[in-house]
Amino acid sequence: MLFQTRILLTSLGLLAACGGRSTHEVNRNRLASFTVGRYIPSEGKPAWAYLDLAMVRKDKPSRIDRRIEQSSYQTGQYTEITTRVEAGDYRIALAYYDKNKTLRYESCKENPNEIDRAHDIRAGETYRTKIRICEAESGEVVGEVPSLDTTDVEITPEMMGGAENPNSGNTQQGQGSSNGNPFVGQQLYVNPKYASSVESSRLKEPALAAAMAKLKAVSTGVWIDRIASISKIEPVLMDIQRLQKSTGKSYIATFVIYNLPERDCAAKASAGELAAAENGLNRYKAEYIDKIAGLFAKYADVKIAAIVEPDSLPNMATNMGQSKCVVAAPLYKEGVAYAIQRLGQKHVALYLDAAHGGWLGWPENRRKVAQVFKEVLDMAGGPQRIRGFASNVSNYSPLSVTTATQQSQDYYQFNPAIDELTFVKLLSQDFQAAGITQRHFVIDTGRNGNPKSRTNWGSWCNVEEAAIGERPRIAPADGVDAYLWIKPPGESDGTSNSSAARFDSSCTSADSKLGAPEAGEWFHDHFVSMVRMASPAL
Ligand code: BGC
Repeated sequence: MLFQTRILLTSLGLLAACGGRSTHEVNRNRLASFTVGRYIPSEGKPAWAYLDLAMVRKDKPSRIDRRIEQSSYQTGQYTEITTRVEAGDYRIALAYYDKNKTLRYESCKENPNEIDRAHDIRAGETYRTKIRICEAESGEVVGEVPSLDTTDVEITPEMMGGAENPNSGNTQQGQGSSNGNPFVGQQLYVNPKYASSVESSRLKEPALAAAMAKLKAVSTGVWIDRIASISKIEPVLMDIQRLQKSTGKSYIATFVIYNLPERDCAAKASAGELAAAENGLNRYKAEYIDKIAGLFAKYADVKIAAIVEPDSLPNMATNMGQSKCVVAAPLYKEGVAYAIQRLGQKHVALYLDAAHGGWLGWPENRRKVAQVFKEVLDMAGGPQRIRGFASNVSNYSPLSVTTATQQSQDYYQFNPAIDELTFVKLLSQDFQAAGITQRHFVIDTGRNGNPKSRTNWGSWCNVEEAAIGERPRIAPADGVDAYLWIKPPGESDGTSNSSAARFDSSCTSADSKLGAPEAGEWFHDHFVSMVRMASPAL
């Protein structure tokens, strides 16, 4: 997308000449929402494939304050974009390119000079305007892009919710609240089992001992990946009660609920213990979910985040060509709805797994998964039964991709969700359209520190060049409750032994590290290389 950057920078460069600089503190309460509406060229005019929007503040003319680059999946079909900006006076430039990357339309430059027009965007308001678009070659005015009377899905301060039940959709609480974010004010619980796996590697790697020591203090998800692992829950909750008593602080633990019948229906590496043909759904309910629900209820003084069934409903959206997924579909839907009903307790925040941008980022996939979620949430009693969604669980997609070389469309295949922060934003819009409103996200950042770790975006098994990513962080971005390490970095995604029963050829892909043990087992060599490349550095 380098070509777009160059052209827009040139046109905006004209703006940089006037006005003085002023320093300005970013104040969350002064953000306004802003939506660029859909622009459909009139009949006979070429459709567009790429959009580049840039905003420059009048009081900071020397830099581009906000830039959005999008590509449409099907040429010209892209709908609208929502962003939030700090209140202020802006100049806005739009440019549209066709499939061949030729500039076709742009904000008119002359009479009226669209780029010089000031846009006064005020705090807490939805900004509406029309931007005139000219044909790039002739300069002829071809239309206007109306910004819509938006159904902005971003939470503005005025909308902040904060009911006692983290899953409730209550929006009554006022400005400055935690927005009902269950992580705010909590300590993230560190699983001693993870710390001991890290220690086993630390003892073997003196050169990395200091870095690894830091990782022993990082919170990770506790996976309840079979009926027998339910036994992991009580020691964690008891340990937290002890810590709460001794420190006077409040803690939150993250559990991963992962045991649906016909699990991992589109892959093999994490096939589970329950089968459809062997009463799997009833066993899931009675021997797994009910037991977990009972334990959660017993420790009502401990805050819990539960990540519900990684990969399950996303498979219902995109992998229904696979026979195991066809068998699994009704069981997944009923199983997840049941899990929501039983686990959605006052002190438990539920996040349904929403895969990642490299899987569901295309508009069609986002639309499909939003419908699946809506169906299951309705079965469970409505979207307000969950706090939100988890993205990038066990995956490697970066939080933010900024440089032009990383934005190659050969790699991203016209998927606009090139990074997870973009993905969750776009997905929220599709959720909104499907009737799932005001839900929040957690993003797994354990292994996404290297945005160029894969030659193929679809690689998911023990990616060799992966790096430890951002440390868990509470309320790191708008609409994001926390960055978490849901998949504990160092635990394998699947065996690379081709004679194993759960061998999946994805685990010997060109991007995969070989010598991998079974899914969930400690993979020392992979851990070492991810620690070495950690970004931010340890
Ligand atoms: C495995 C689980 C494991 C989890 C965390 C999944 O891929 O199937 O058994 O607990 O990863 O490492």
